[in-house]
Amino acid sequence: MNIRVRITATGQVLTLDIEEYLRGVVPNESPASWPMEELKAQAVAARTYALAQTGILADDERSQVYRPNSMNPRTDEAIRMTHSIVGRYQGAIKPMFFSASCGGVTLGTWGPWLKHLTNCPCKAAGYGTNGHQQGMCQQGARVLATQGMYYTDILNTYYNMSFSPLNEAATVTPPSKISIQYQTIPAWANQIKLPWQKVIDPGGTDTWPGSKTVGRFWVEDDNQINKYLALGAPGADQYFNRCLPMYRSAPWIYVWEGPNEPQPMSDNLYVVASAAFWSRYVDLMHGAGLKVCIGSWGVTWPHVDQITLFKDALTKTDYWSTHEYGAPTMQSSSGDNCLHYRRLIAALRAASCRVPPLLITECGIDGGCAGQGGCGWRMIVPATSREQYQAQIAWYNTETLKDYEVEQVFLFVAGPKPLWVSFVIDEVLARWVMNTHAFPVTFPVDQAALEKFLGDHCQKTIIPLDKNSAFQKFAQPRGWLPAGLCPDIVYNSVMYSVQPYRSPNDTSVQYIVWCKTGDWGNVKFFIRSN
Ligand SMILES: [Zn+2]
Repeated sequence: MNIRVRITATGQVLTLDIEEYLRGVVPNESPASWPMEELKAQAVAARTYALAQTGILADDERSQVYRPNSMNPRTDEAIRMTHSIVGRYQGAIKPMFFSASCGGVTLGTWGPWLKHLTNCPCKAAGYGTNGHQQGMCQQGARVLATQGMYYTDILNTYYNMSFSPLNEAATVTPPSKISIQYQTIPAWANQIKLPWQKVIDPGGTDTWPGSKTVGRFWVEDDNQINKYLALGAPGADQYFNRCLPMYRSAPWIYVWEGPNEPQPMSDNLYVVASAAFWSRYVDLMHGAGLKVCIGSWGVTWPHVDQITLFKDALTKTDYWSTHEYGAPTMQSSSGDNCLHYRRLIAALRAASCRVPPLLITECGIDGGCAGQGGCGWRMIVPATSREQYQAQIAWYNTETLKDYEVEQVFLFVAGPKPLWVSFVIDEVLARWVMNTHAFPVTFPVDQAALEKFLGDHCQKTIIPLDKNSAFQKFAQPRGWLPAGLCPDIVYNSVMYSVQPYRSPNDTSVQYIVWCKTGDWGNVKFFIRSN
C-alpha cells in the first residue's frame, strides 16, 4: 500500500510503499540501538499511524519524522519482521499515538483504542512526563522489551487493538490441517479455537473444551529418556508407571505422546528395543483406558528400512507421530526432511502393515537442518518474513492434504520457553492459523440433531464429485462409489462437508460420509434408504 509524503525542503510529494516509508521513520522515533521488540512495536505503531491519516503526510513532527538518510539495519529488521502488521480497533485502522515517556500514567482520552495505563514502567526507570501521554510510552516499551516481553504483548499493554497483517487474504486452501503446539499457555490461547492442539506439561484445566488435545509430559531426566526405550518392554513399564499419575492429573487430554524424539535411531539394536517399548506402551496405555500416539520421531527418523520394525505397535496404536522441519525453508527440505512421512507410509503399505492416522506433532523451520541449530523462522538466514513463513506453512498444508493418513500438523511452538523463542507462534500467527480453518470452530455440537439435519439436507441435493480426497479414507476401503455431492452445509454457523456414496452391491442405499471441514477425526457415516 502506498502513502504520499511532502518533503518540506523541496516541496516535492513522494509516493512511497508504506514499508519503504517506514525505513525512514522508525529510526527517528526509536533509537536503532533499542531492544528489537520495542523497535517492532514502534514499527507497527508508526505503520498504523501513517495509514490512519488521510491526505499527504508531512515529513516532520506534524505527521512522523521521515529522514531517508537515517535508515538502519536494525530498524529495517524490525519493519521486515512486522511486515504489513497493523493495529485495528473494531476492525478499523486508528491512529496509534505514542509519546516519549508518560511518567507512569497513560491517559487514553484521544480514543477508546488507547489504554489508560496506571503503572507504566517508565516511571520506575526514572523517566518523567515527556509528551502527550496518549498510547504507547516509548521508554515504558523499551523497559518491557528489555524484560523479554514480545512486541505484540507490548502493544497490548498500551492499546485496545488487535494486530494482524493488512491483507489477510487466505493463502491456505481449506480444509486446513494446521494446528499449534503450546509449550506454555499464553493469556490469549483460549481465544484460539482449533480442532486440535498439542500441549507440553498440561495442567488440570482444559483451555479448549470440545476440541482434541495431544499431551506430552517433560520429565526431569528427559535427556536420558532414551534409557527407557533401550530397555525394551520392561522400560515401557517403568516409563508408564512413572507417567500414569501425571496422565491422571489431566484427564481432558485426548491422546498422549510418549518419550520425545527417541535416539540414537542410527543404532539398529536400539531401534529394535524401542519397537518392543512402543508395543508394550500401547498395551499399558490401552489397559488404563488412555489413547496413545507412538513415535514422536525426530526429523528423518525412522529410516525407510526401519519403520516396519514397529509393525506390532503400529497395528494397535491410536496414532503415530513424526516431526518435520525444513531450513532455510520448509520446501527446501522437501522429500528429505519435510514429507519424509510419505516414504514411511509407502514402506508400510509395501509390507502390508497398518498405517494408523499420523500426527505431525512438530513442524516448521529449524535451522538445525541447515547448520543453524536451534534457530527458528524468526532468526533463520536468509531471513524469513512472517508472510513468507505463512506461505511455507500453506505449502505444507497443501501437501499434507494429499495424504489422508495425515490427521493434523502442529506448528512448533506457542508460549515458547527461552531456548525456543526464535520459533515463536505468537498471537498474530495463531490467529492466522485459526483463520486458515474455513469455519468458526464452535464446540460442542448436538451430534444427533446435526446428523438428522445432514440426512434431511442430503436427500435433496446432488452435485459434483469428490471435492476432497480425505473422504477416500472411508470410501475406498469399503468399495463405495461417490454418488454426487452435497455442497458444504452450514448448521449452527459451522460449515460441514458431506459426501453421499453408494455401495456397488446395493444401489438402493446411500452411505453418507460427513465431517466438520478440517477435522477428519470427526468423520462419520450413516446409512439412509432412498
Ligand atoms: Zn511510560
